[in-house]
Amino acid sequence: MTEVLIVGASFAGLTAARELRGRDVLIVDRSPIGAHQTSACALPLRLVQWLGAEESVLNAESRMRVEIGDAHWNVRLPEEFAVIDYEACCLAIARQTDARFEQIRVVGRDGVFVLGSAGERLEADWLIDASGWRRVLDPAGPTRGSQPSLVIGTEDHVPTAAAPHADGFAFYLEKQLLKSGYGWSFPAGDHVRAGVGSFIKEPLQPPMKRLRQRDTLGAGREHHGGAIACNPRDPVAGGVLFIGDAAGQALPVTLEGIRPAVYFGAGAGRLVMRTLADDLTPAQAQARYAALHQQHLSGYARLNRIQRWYRWLPEFALKRLATKALGRPHADGHEIGFRSTRYLDVLRAEHLPALP
Ligand SMILES: Cc1cc2nc3c(=O)[nH]c(=O)nc-3n(C[C@H](O)[C@H](O)[C@H](O)COP(=O)(O)OP(=O)(O)OC[C@H]3O[C@@H](n4cnc5c(N)ncnc54)[C@H](O)[C@@H]3O)c2cc1C
Repeated sequence: MTEVLIVGASFAGLTAARELRGRDVLIVDRSPIGAHQTSACALPLRLVQWLGAEESVLNAESRMRVEIGDAHWNVRLPEEFAVIDYEACCLAIARQTDARFEQIRVVGRDGVFVLGSAGERLEADWLIDASGWRRVLDPAGPTRGSQPSLVIGTEDHVPTAAAPHADGFAFYLEKQLLKSGYGWSFPAGDHVRAGVGSFIKEPLQPPMKRLRQRDTLGAGREHHGGAIACNPRDPVAGGVLFIGDAAGQALPVTLEGIRPAVYFGAGAGRLVMRTLADDLTPAQAQARYAALHQQHLSGYARLNRIQRWYRWLPEFALKRLATKALGRPHADGHEIGFRSTRYLDVLRAEHLPALP
């Protein structure tokens, strides 16, 4: 019998598999590895380096521009951020694992068996669900896209020549664009990733249209989107470890899901590795993983509160808050320090070596 079965070959699943080198690991995904990008793929550069996926970096930035109407702030980021090629990153992590890969769409469980859509019946000592917001191994059944707590986002890849105003990492918080969420523009080599993320369920095509007009964007050559799970859910259920979006571990407000997927994926992978080396019992590993998740719940609760309030904030109040957090807006693009990094301290790359 397989020692570890991981469902989902994206950031969380591949990171967990990398921690399980030398063991008998099967990783399954409904798509080939790296074939199905949903994310804008911006993450701290140090995390890309930690993952050994530097070859996937398309662009790196140490500043971001925050724009609210005519006011803007040029903000020094607490650390350099990279925009990566999703497929190249996934393949680079996959190469560092010893896992076997099979393309299987998981449809649920039947007792100890994980079921595939073509009649596959898979069995393993350990089950790790890294299937993203769908959480396909949840004993209560997979999550539906209509779940109100899911955040939604969409993005176009616009060739650089068709994005004349793109200038570094930019976030648009103006309410005319989106009532409850934000827009972004990230240069990524030969194209710009321009998108919107909404904290509430609303059609995203109207804000995308406004974003295209705002930045006089030409036609996108690629388009993708999906849900983001920012509400923490049981990290252990029915004997399965849930990691990344499957455990609702994406960061509210910033909507960064890659950092937590890697962090919790590495944590879960290491704990399972210790059970296979007879250093921990399965019950101890499950309890420690649940404790690791629990340790961060107050940070998620704080950010989720901000995310809920955000829709009620009028733009003038938003500008006032931005001024309080980031300093006075500088129309000349003068660089200012980033004074409010507290929320970004959650799950920093330097915490990875100290995982259990
Ligand atoms: C538009 C948009 C932009 C975003 N931008 C950013 C960003 O810039 N930075 C950032 O940090 N985060 C961003 N996010 C969030 C980020 O994409 C996710 O939080 C992150 O990908 C979660 O990683 P994961 O490994 O947990 O799950 P996922 O990346 O969602 O991977 C889940 C995997 O499971 C597979 N799978 C799903 N169902 C099944 C099934 N039934 N059977 C088999 N396999 C299955 C999928 O094919 C997929 O490979 C963005 C999200 C969206 C929607």
